[in-house]
Amino acid sequence: MATGPTGNDGMLRIPCPHCGERDYTEFRYGGDASKIRPPHGTADARAWQEYVFLFDNPKGAHLEYWQHVLGCRQWLVLERDTATNAVGKAHLARSQGSP
Ligand SMILES: [Zn+2]
Repeated sequence: MATGPTGNDGMLRIPCPHCGERDYTEFRYGGDASKIRPPHGTADARAWQEYVFLFDNPKGAHLEYWQHVLGCRQWLVLERDTATNAVGKAHLARSQGSP
């Protein structure tokens, strides 16, 4: 069986910067990490409506938020290909200021 980002058992493996590579079941998906939150204090309802309710459905390389809920509880930004499920690098979300 092929190995790689999903390991021998076909399970998605996520590289946590604190805990090392772990099964995806230890994590909670947190959404699109490429979306930019409207600035604090913004009262533009259309900007908030788009941020909260409208989502892209990209095919290919994508940045996503994941929280390591059964580990260090840190939020990560993970590179993942939505077409192949190939996992790339992960870094702490707080290092870029969100979520
Ligand atoms: Zn962790």
